[in-house]
Amino acid sequence: MLSSTVFSVRAEYATQQDLITKIEALSEDRTSDPYQIVSKLKEFTDIAKDNNWQKSIALSNVIAMNLYMSIEDFAEIEILLAETKPVAANLNDLETDLRLQIIELNLFISKNMLVEAKQIQIQLQEKTKVIEDPVLLADVYQQLGQSQEETENFSESIANLTKAYDLYLEQGDDYGVASTLVTLGNLYLAIGGYDMSIEYNSKALNYIRQENDKFGESIVLYNIASAYLRQDNCDKALDFSSLSTQVATELNDNIGVAWSSMITADCFSMNENWEKALEIYQSVEPVFEDTNIFKMQVNALNGIARAAMMLSQFDLAEMSLEKGKSLISSGIILDKQLKYLELQSQLYFLQKDYLNAYLSQEEMLDLQSQINENKTEQDLQRSRLEFDSELKETENASLQKQNELNEQLIKQKENQNQVFIFMLILMLFLLLAVIIFSVNQFSLRKKFKNLSLEDPLTKTRNRRSILQKAELMYKQAKHNRSALSVMLIDLDKFKIVNDTYGHDVGDNVLKAFAKACETSLRDTDAFGRYGGEEWLVILPNDNRKIVDKVFNRISDELNKQDIKGLDEQHNITFSMGVVTFNNDANISLNKLISEADNLLYSAKENGRNRYYINAVMG
Ligand code: GH3
Ligand code: MG
Ligand code: MG
Repeated sequence: MLSSTVFSVRAEYATQQDLITKIEALSEDRTSDPYQIVSKLKEFTDIAKDNNWQKSIALSNVIAMNLYMSIEDFAEIEILLAETKPVAANLNDLETDLRLQIIELNLFISKNMLVEAKQIQIQLQEKTKVIEDPVLLADVYQQLGQSQEETENFSESIANLTKAYDLYLEQGDDYGVASTLVTLGNLYLAIGGYDMSIEYNSKALNYIRQENDKFGESIVLYNIASAYLRQDNCDKALDFSSLSTQVATELNDNIGVAWSSMITADCFSMNENWEKALEIYQSVEPVFEDTNIFKMQVNALNGIARAAMMLSQFDLAEMSLEKGKSLISSGIILDKQLKYLELQSQLYFLQKDYLNAYLSQEEMLDLQSQINENKTEQDLQRSRLEFDSELKETENASLQKQNELNEQLIKQKENQNQVFIFMLILMLFLLLAVIIFSVNQFSLRKKFKNLSLEDPLTKTRNRRSILQKAELMYKQAKHNRSALSVMLIDLDKFKIVNDTYGHDVGDNVLKAFAKACETSLRDTDAFGRYGGEEWLVILPNDNRKIVDKVFNRISDELNKQDIKGLDEQHNITFSMGVVTFNNDANISLNKLISEADNLLYSAKENGRNRYYINAVMG
């Protein structure tokens, strides 16, 4: 039966052009989920390979890689890139080469290989001179601009994004216009142009709502709220943060809710409503802790410390500061360290320990001189605001003109740096006399989808990412009316491992477990770190028959590994709850996970090192 299907499919594509038309149509599909499109593209690639249609192979792979980029599955991209590069070398086609270079550029940026990224940026910029096709040119400008935001070449970034924006508008490409607007909005946020950021994000919001992209909507709403907060406009900030919370709640996106709650808490702080602020900071801090969103956790801890201090709860303040301090590895996040020292010094001051308050201040000064670059941001903001009012006067000034102005402003700022640093040092001395609480600093979600998706310890999917993937697989199962298995795993008596051998050894066990899953599971399965020592595994189809095998295989792989700090003969066990969903009734993914959790609980109750599996749900 299979062979006849293949035969008939092949017959449909008498020429390469037929196939290319089909592939191009798929690339326009923005409503299906990326996994569906990718699997369709794989079929097309196979047909192309059978016929040795090189151009189709390259085209199909490029589209697939871009889809993987949107879901940040970098491993898949690397595999496809290695396959496509030799094909492209034979083709000698400008568009294919450019698209591959853009993909490589994004890969380098995702790995923080900025030197390599900059080299590609230079090459691409050079090539824009010879690109004739406006569609391609717009994409190249947009990608260049976006990547230059990441490498912090702000003026070049604005110039390229502006060109992309104009080209997309000319072509009536709404999607291109929207994504360029979001990038511009984020860029202005990063350099302190809050009015502009709000304007661009609001325009983008209209497009995103039309596309019904809820996830994007919650982030853009958050971005707008942040910009208002930075302008001290708490009323507006609260309006938008609550909208963002609402959308994130609809999506069951705890992390999104935590992000927007931070804005609410900061507004309470700003209005000196310390009780409320403290309550919220304390409720979100564990969310960031569980999901390893380290910068936000430090922000929340600083928020707790400040509010606690104001409420004279010095023990709590001190505890939060200690916890924050232990999170900040020296030299990596300097501005966080500065914030920490500032709070520490305030705390000493309030406790009338003037010597230590003075010493912290001194340390702050040292640190300040190291990070002057970051601090020029406030100065930039001032100029940006001036620039905004100019812009309002000349309403029809083209984006091109804005760009020229921007370049000048940025250059001007660079010259003013030195004066600014001097002023800052003076201001710091003033701080010692008059305790001024500076506006809480935020690490903003700079990019549209910049939320971390990788668990830094085990390099597997983090909670957010595995939930996203689970949601997609769940939707896919519903769409195909196929089954789905949800497994929740928790390591047994893990606390004892930590207590006996130390936290580092505990970490090694977690890494070993991740590796064991990686080797034991198939490519079509997905797994990720759901919580501290809890893991979520999703298998497509009804896998009840192989659950026993999967359980034993992971266990064997885990105990085969040499875990640093443990005896060779270690025996780490885990328990598992498994639910199979066969699509007969409408059961949400959440319900499936919570059912797996109940079964996991039973497995624990009944002795651990075992799994419990339910009768099929749905
Ligand atoms: P049970 O069999 O009932 O699951 O017992 P348990 O000890 O595994 O469960 P419990 O929830 O009491 O303890 C989980 C421990 O996992 C507590 C926490 O310190 C530890 N943990 C969570 N995340 C990490 C981590 O990233 N690294 C290390 N080393 N330990 C972690
Ligand atoms: Mg647990
Ligand atoms: Mg456990």
